[in-house]
Amino acid sequence: MDMDSLVALCKRRGFLFQSSEIYGGLQGFWDYGPLGVELKRNVREAWWRDMVTSHNELETAAGAPSAFEMTGLDCSIIMHPQVWKCSGHYDLFHDYMVDCRESKKRYRHDQVCGRWLTCKGQRIFVASDAPGNEGLELTQHKAMKFFNLRGKDLDSLTWEGPLVSLTTVSDFSQVLGPDAKTLGTLTPPREFNLMFKTIVGALGGEDDVVFLRPETAQGIFVNFKNVCDSTRVRIPFGIAQIGKSFRNEITPRNFTFRSREFEQMEIEFFCHPNTSPDWYRYWRDRRYAWYVNLGLAGERLRLRDHDKDELSHYSCGTADIEYAFPFLGPGEFGELEGVAHRGNFDLRSHMEGKLVHKGDDLVVESDAEGKPRHKGSGRDLSYFDDLTKERFVPHVIEPSAGADRATLAFLCEAYNEDEAPDENGKPTKRVFLKFHPRLAPIKAAIFPLVKKDGMPEIAREIYKTLKPHMTAFYDEKGAVGRRYRRQDEVGTPFCITVDSQTLQDGTVTIRDRDTLDQWRVSKDQCLAELQSRLQK
Ligand code: ATP
Repeated sequence: MDMDSLVALCKRRGFLFQSSEIYGGLQGFWDYGPLGVELKRNVREAWWRDMVTSHNELETAAGAPSAFEMTGLDCSIIMHPQVWKCSGHYDLFHDYMVDCRESKKRYRHDQVCGRWLTCKGQRIFVASDAPGNEGLELTQHKAMKFFNLRGKDLDSLTWEGPLVSLTTVSDFSQVLGPDAKTLGTLTPPREFNLMFKTIVGALGGEDDVVFLRPETAQGIFVNFKNVCDSTRVRIPFGIAQIGKSFRNEITPRNFTFRSREFEQMEIEFFCHPNTSPDWYRYWRDRRYAWYVNLGLAGERLRLRDHDKDELSHYSCGTADIEYAFPFLGPGEFGELEGVAHRGNFDLRSHMEGKLVHKGDDLVVESDAEGKPRHKGSGRDLSYFDDLTKERFVPHVIEPSAGADRATLAFLCEAYNEDEAPDENGKPTKRVFLKFHPRLAPIKAAIFPLVKKDGMPEIAREIYKTLKPHMTAFYDEKGAVGRRYRRQDEVGTPFCITVDSQTLQDGTVTIRDRDTLDQWRVSKDQCLAELQSRLQK
């Protein structure tokens, strides 16, 4: 599938628009159009229903170590700044960037590498933003060009060892930037925290700086005690939240995949330390199955366990659920969701203060005077099990998904082209979105074959019956073949047509988007027929 066709369809049919498009757009921000908003709501609602409201806490779900409870929260986007200090986001959630004055390109400092070499008495650092063999080739090619050399002069370049990170270079005056032709065009690295800052209150000074949340998870941790005290939940249980998050990404790209404002669907699952590895495996497999059930089956979806050296310092297991988005290179996958075993890191951070690793232990980080660098709340966030009389700080399993990335993956997977006969029976190209019925923005379209003989009246009656139960669309304009095509293109699973036979025997045709099969049912049976097929 080619991404440009999908992007064009999204704009043409009102799934996604660039934010503030009439003013030239704003990079990293997107608006969901009339159909996009329905699609994304369906993704969110499927998640919330499957994870929270339809969960039965009385039975042990398949693969789960025991029965468990699920509950929800909706926290504010702006929280006390100390939340982000203790969580580590204030100190650690940043990238360094360098700009090139010549090419006007921006790079992540740690993603630029290069090699030192001497030629014609001059020692320079040739940089590249590609690692590995590609980086070696690029730096050689750039050096040859810079010194105006031919292939036979290769030996006049004296290289000093392999590719090293630009972070090892302190003076950029002798650096040839990845896309530059002259030396010294890179600016010094600037620290760039990915959290958006804003000010609370009218007089706002430095003390009034707050942040737009970069993840929804922390709102759950800081409410852990409130939820325990206000409900009768017992461990193990999960708290779910869906909401906007904001990250000032240096290089937003690939449609909505990397945006600066996006929506997350996160669960923090609290359990006993002894059973946490089992719960981790349960959630990893369950979350993977969720995508499969909604149509992302096949080789484009994969579950990838992190290697030991990829794991965060507090995690004993993390897996990514990934999708081979069409804008990525062959064999490349992009993260849809991360499922992490986070130990007791988060609850302890909010009790004691920002934690750092010391050997195998986590300890509160201290400043020059030996005081905590970022003080915790001091609240007791441990859990007392009144049956076993045990007090402990629960472990956390975190399945953290992105609603926009999931929506984009469902769109990519749904995009299909085939050939179908047009109204004259001639085979023509057909574009259709093969959404799972639960996700389809419109569930049924209702057409009178022609705009006369009482057909519109019957079709409107059917529309009126369906409307309270599902998103439906009424259309009486143009050739019926064209009306079918328009619905295929937005992924409507069923089209109902009122025709001359309806006037005789009261039956209508129902057409299936994927198989193009058509069958007749009584006009009074439309609702029941669709409801049973949509639930499949
Ligand atoms: P990446 O490595 O792609 O930046 P991440 O590992 O930083 O992602 P997490 O912090 O684990 O992402 O966030 C959880 C989920 O939130 C991701 O799996 C993704 O679906 C979503 N997400 C994160 N950043 C963005 C973004 N900039 N735009 C859209 N969705 C995002």
